[in-house]
Amino acid sequence: MSSVQWEENVSLQCYNTFKIQVTARYVVRIQNTGLNELVQSPLFQNHRHMILGGGSNLLFTEKIYDGIVLKNEIIGIETISQDDTHTSLKVGGGVTWSLLVDYCLVHNLGGIENLSLIPGTVGAAPIQNIGAYGVELSDVLESVEIVDLADGQTRTMMRAECEFRYRDSIFKRLKDVLIATITIKLTNAPHHRLNTTYGSVQQVLSEREITTPTISSVSEVVCLIRRRKLPDPRELGNAGSFFQNVTVDDFTCKSIKSKYPALPVFPKANGLRLIPAAWFIENSGWKGRRIGRVGVYHNHALIIVNFGGADGDEVKALSDRITKDVICQFGVCLVPEVNIIR
Ligand code: NAP
Repeated sequence: MSSVQWEENVSLQCYNTFKIQVTARYVVRIQNTGLNELVQSPLFQNHRHMILGGGSNLLFTEKIYDGIVLKNEIIGIETISQDDTHTSLKVGGGVTWSLLVDYCLVHNLGGIENLSLIPGTVGAAPIQNIGAYGVELSDVLESVEIVDLADGQTRTMMRAECEFRYRDSIFKRLKDVLIATITIKLTNAPHHRLNTTYGSVQQVLSEREITTPTISSVSEVVCLIRRRKLPDPRELGNAGSFFQNVTVDDFTCKSIKSKYPALPVFPKANGLRLIPAAWFIENSGWKGRRIGRVGVYHNHALIIVNFGGADGDEVKALSDRITKDVICQFGVCLVPEVNIIR
């Protein structure tokens, strides 16, 4: 009997945080790395396919996905090595990212507390090299185990091979691979190295009079900041930041700042400058605006929300209008962070 279970005509509405109603022609749940039979099957070879993790960073623009959705459900968190200072964990790509953060807090393992409450799964995390409040996945990642969907072969890529950059990695270009597991190296107490450099983190720590933070208190602070300004997808469909923050060279930055002195600018490597995309959206008048069933969230201009029942193309049309206005006003082209499925 075939070990591949094909589910047909499956609604993906509860598998994408935008809550867009879309039907997948086929869904296959992936629970281990043995994918030879799947990738050699005629159905697989004759249909397009996509990998779905937590569905928190994508936008479906059609009512039917006429292909195969591979739902990454590889679970498990396993300690693979430990010494006085560090512990390495191997984690299944189908594990929910925030569950992994909770696991680390319970076991007093440091390194990913700043990444608390980032939606999505562990398997999606290396693709964008998720990061928040001064910490990135690549700071702790040792290796990634992938399955090549062209031939079903499994291989391990070490961190240096992953080409990690700001919200970028080789996995955005190596399209046809499934991230099966990752291995991360975390600190044991008392060797944690906390990063509390971000202004908002420092502000909440001082509001709460926390002078000697722990990994748990940093996590609580990050959760509080995120809950204050981000909509809960269980209540309001959204996919977090819709656009990427804007990286420009110093010349471009100075020329925008000469017209808009209040422009917030953060220095990045190689003389580049990072400008929050939210600033452009807010200053082109879009923050809090609603068009029909979609709109820009009132507390954070980077987030497009589905007020209920919206189609993916309504969200896309709104994002196009915002992009056009920002180009006209500032000469800056916003790039979606969300993966748009056509
Ligand atoms: P925010 O805190 O309002 O910051 C906006 C932008 O300013 C971010 O790009 C951030 O850079 C930069 N920034 C703020 N304070 C900084 C500092 N002290 N030093 C250097 N850069 C600074 O951003 P937000 O949209 O509410 O997001 C909060 C955090 O979650 C940010 O770190 C953001 O990158 C992260 N986030 C990550 C993802 C993802 O991994 N896919 C998605 C959404 C948001 P950085 O981006 O370098 O932090």
